[in-house]
Amino acid sequence: MRLLEWQGREVLAKAGIPVPDGEVAAHPKEVERIAARLGRPVVVKAQVPVGGRGKAGGIRLAKTPKEAEEVARALLGSTIKGIRVEKLLVVEAMEPRAEHYLGILLDRSARMPLFLYSPQGGVEIEEVARQNPELVSRVHIPPLEGPASFRLRKLFALAPKGLQPTLLDVAKKLWSVFVAYEAHLVEINPLAELDGRFVALDAKIIVDDDHSPGPQFAELGEEVADPLEAAARKAGMSYVRLDGNIGILGNGAGLVMATLDLVAQAGGRPANFLDIGGGARAERVKTGIDLILRDGRAKVLFVNVFGGITRCDEVARGVLEALQNREIPVVIRLVGTNEEEGRRILASAGFIPVRTMEEGAAKAVAIAKEAECAR
Ligand code: GDP
Ligand code: MN
Repeated sequence: MRLLEWQGREVLAKAGIPVPDGEVAAHPKEVERIAARLGRPVVVKAQVPVGGRGKAGGIRLAKTPKEAEEVARALLGSTIKGIRVEKLLVVEAMEPRAEHYLGILLDRSARMPLFLYSPQGGVEIEEVARQNPELVSRVHIPPLEGPASFRLRKLFALAPKGLQPTLLDVAKKLWSVFVAYEAHLVEINPLAELDGRFVALDAKIIVDDDHSPGPQFAELGEEVADPLEAAARKAGMSYVRLDGNIGILGNGAGLVMATLDLVAQAGGRPANFLDIGGGARAERVKTGIDLILRDGRAKVLFVNVFGGITRCDEVARGVLEALQNREIPVVIRLVGTNEEEGRRILASAGFIPVRTMEEGAAKAVAIAKEAECAR
């Protein structure tokens, strides 16, 4: 589960990492009150569990409490990357001298946590790594040993000399968060530098869904999962949000992964994918399609089902029910148990399944491209 920024911020603050003064709010009047208390320009930040909020218009500067209220009115209830904004974080605006990047992630191939640092933060680290790979340093941390100072000094070799001790201190605190919250990822971007001090202007923390119980999680308060992922889990299915425009439904993790690969090879980008699991009945298929289409980002639906214990006729019925009042184009590949009956049901509604996955992927990608051009 990915914590929202305001929760991550509290976690960092509790670990002793400086954060800007501020509060979270759900109403414009509250936002105004917080801005008035802070008594200076503020940054109003949409609390949605996705990155790139800045570019998407979810981070706004407000000079006065009145302006903060107006910004809040515009942001609350709007959607950013398909997610409804329910809460705003209001923090004092800072004028950083520089924006750095500091993160720890689990490097599964090395079986070790990996520290990443760049003196050039503020933008996505992948972007920096592509354009200026020499500005990103990486240091693995043997988990039983922890973040020994000599390793961290190597990590911060790129940092201005005088700032290294302070960065070392922030890194050790960030490590304590990574361990205590059983995280896959903790990331501060930007880590702002103000006259030799560092302040975490953003906080991204992804906690392992199978973390052991502990009071630190209870303190986080409400459930923080992506609303669509949570709804899918509740229905016993798994949904994953991606950032393209092709919705994918399949049965079984292996088939779904293969479908993602084929779509990528055909030059397309999935908006999400949903695994209906084994033996799904029509109702479940319908629920799955509803979830895939709910945020409106998918311009085409690609259903790829291999019938084993899953029956093709049930899948076909579910597809038809889900699409009853919708305009979305759909590409279907349906083979296996009760395939003939499934095809008959689909044909009665004018849908002709494709024969192969490859053909389906190519068709879905072509439709998605056309939809983007038509906009
Ligand atoms: P993200 O785009 O979802 O990662 O959201 P961030 O919280 O990282 O904000 C995006 C950008 O807004 C940051 O890289 C900063 O450049 C800027 N920003 C965020 N908070 C502040 C702030 O308090 N002061 C200033 N000057 N810029 C900020
Ligand atoms: Mn950020």
